[in-house]
Amino acid sequence: MKNPFAQPSPEQRSRPWRWLVPVLLVLLFLAVLIWLPWQARQMESNERQEQLIADTLWVEQTLRFELARSEEALAALGADLVVAPPAPAVLKARMAQMFKNGPELLRVVWLDASGKPLATHGADLPAAGLPEATVQAAEMAHATRRGRYSEPYGATPSTHGLIDFYLPLYRQGEYQGSLVATYSLQVLLNETVPWWFAQDNALALLDREDHVVAQRAAGGPGRGVYTHRRDLDLPGALVALSTDSVKGAPQLLPNLLVGSVIVLALGLVLSLVALWRHISRTLAAEAALRQQMAFRTAMENSLLTGLRARDLEGRVTYVNRAFCQIVGLPEEELVGKKPPMPYWAPEAMADYEERFRGVLSGNITPQFETVFQRSDGVRVPVLVFEAPLVDVYGKQTGWMSSVLDITDRKRVEELNRQQEEKLQASARLATMGEISSMLAHELNQPLAAISSYTAGALNMLERAGAAGGEVQPGMLKRALEQARQQAQRAGQIIRSVHEFVKKREPLREEVTIRSVVEGVRALVDLQARQAAVALRVELPPDLPPVLADRILLEQVLLNLTRNAIEAMQDTPPEHRVLRIQAAHGRGQVSVSVIDRGHGIAPEVAERLFSPFHSTKAEGMGMGLSICRTAIEFHGGTLTHAPNPAGGTIFTFALPAQAAAPALG
Ligand code: ADP
Repeated sequence: MKNPFAQPSPEQRSRPWRWLVPVLLVLLFLAVLIWLPWQARQMESNERQEQLIADTLWVEQTLRFELARSEEALAALGADLVVAPPAPAVLKARMAQMFKNGPELLRVVWLDASGKPLATHGADLPAAGLPEATVQAAEMAHATRRGRYSEPYGATPSTHGLIDFYLPLYRQGEYQGSLVATYSLQVLLNETVPWWFAQDNALALLDREDHVVAQRAAGGPGRGVYTHRRDLDLPGALVALSTDSVKGAPQLLPNLLVGSVIVLALGLVLSLVALWRHISRTLAAEAALRQQMAFRTAMENSLLTGLRARDLEGRVTYVNRAFCQIVGLPEEELVGKKPPMPYWAPEAMADYEERFRGVLSGNITPQFETVFQRSDGVRVPVLVFEAPLVDVYGKQTGWMSSVLDITDRKRVEELNRQQEEKLQASARLATMGEISSMLAHELNQPLAAISSYTAGALNMLERAGAAGGEVQPGMLKRALEQARQQAQRAGQIIRSVHEFVKKREPLREEVTIRSVVEGVRALVDLQARQAAVALRVELPPDLPPVLADRILLEQVLLNLTRNAIEAMQDTPPEHRVLRIQAAHGRGQVSVSVIDRGHGIAPEVAERLFSPFHSTKAEGMGMGLSICRTAIEFHGGTLTHAPNPAGGTIFTFALPAQAAAPALG
């Protein structure tokens, strides 16, 4: 039988590696999960920063544009003033228009070539005159002949910074004076920057030393996360626009994401661990199962008993190696087969079919002997045990049979039987041989007696005839009477021996011990006389009968008396007495044969009833063995005991029959 699980498969050996790929994948997945929100946050942050830069650029452009517009208006005004100064009212109106267009414009001063103010519009010029920063810008402006901005000035913690634009005026290359415009940087911020931008960002204008000269923070102070700085690029002045978003780093989204990622990752790791444990357990169970299977298969294969499983329809579902060997067929030719089976012997077909009908109807014979035909035609006697096959749910799924090849047992039984028969026959033959030699010897006596009686009678007749005398009828009659008696005894001996030796089935009938003794008396007498033994028969008159085979009982008695006589060979003649006594009590009738012979030594007693055990030169050693078998066959016992007066007592006891008139 094949065992697919005996060796670990290559797949099993590479097991540690199988885990590597999923574990790596899971780790990679976790890394991506953790990296993703971080990346999202980064992207969002970049986006905000870019947005801020774009917005800042836009604001810077707006501021620059506002100032440029103002520069142009001043340039136009300057050109007009140089060519033909308008009337003061006209100038005033024009100025008013300028102030209206640009609220950041605080003041415009017209200076002549010597720097003396010709006209001042808007706020008054401070008494100290032009501030220092403006004076420096003026110098540069004269040098370059272009308008220039001063550095922001006048900023204190409580006041906002100002900035001046100094525009020198020339007519045909000749310096004619100048225009100085003063702007409030705070108003510039307030008016030019749209409210929504101010809401989202804190804005500030910074001078060369990064001092705040103006600022706007409608939406609160900036967080310092997204900031940008941009120079306004005013000719002559260094003013920077700084923006700082009120928004902090993005938080809510990453928190949620990171939270879910951690939960997911934890879930994933937990389920991975659970899966791993489950798989380990499954693998362990599988390994245990495989081991069990291998063990069972090995066990089944080493069994000498054939095993066969059938389903409820009688189809063979399993056979083990021993079964295949018994029927000489491979597993493939048996499994899946339905009756008639290939190992059914044609001569027992009816039997098999009968039994199979029983199996189908659920009535099996739990144990029976039958014959299988091996594939080479040899008949194999088998002992089959059948039992229901029950699955794990307790449901019967078929039948299980174990099949024992009993060829050897049968052979031994047959040999024993033959041996026994031979023994019985030879024992019988031996007895017969003995008896016939005894007969031959003993019949000599009566025959010789008959011959001499008849010869005497004849002589008597002849003598009377020759002498012409009278024949004495009395004497003649006595001689003939004696001859008849002897002839009758000879006949009785022959009958008795014939009865004993005759082969017949045991026949039970009511027998009296007296009749049994009478049956063998002639023979026993004969032997006793030959051995100069005195025979005493002592039978109580009220002996109940026994149920037995008369001839067998006679055989037993004959054997016991013969042994007794033989045991007294060396006994002094005056003590050679053989007694046959009978008694009854406790529902039994017992018969004892008592001798005064040499008795039984302990080592002889041990093997007394074993066949072929004899202490005699010509003994067969079968007598006692046969006697005991015969007595036990009748439900009785055969025992022996030492005779207190010397010798041995053999006693057989048989169950008594219900009281019946004593016969014989
Ligand atoms: P056999 O008479 O052929 O030897 P038995 O089975 O009748 O076979 O007897 C077996 C042995 O038992 C005898 O050889 C003898 O030694 C012993 N035996 C039997 N009966 C007596 C007896 N009455 N007294 C002493 N020994 C006896």
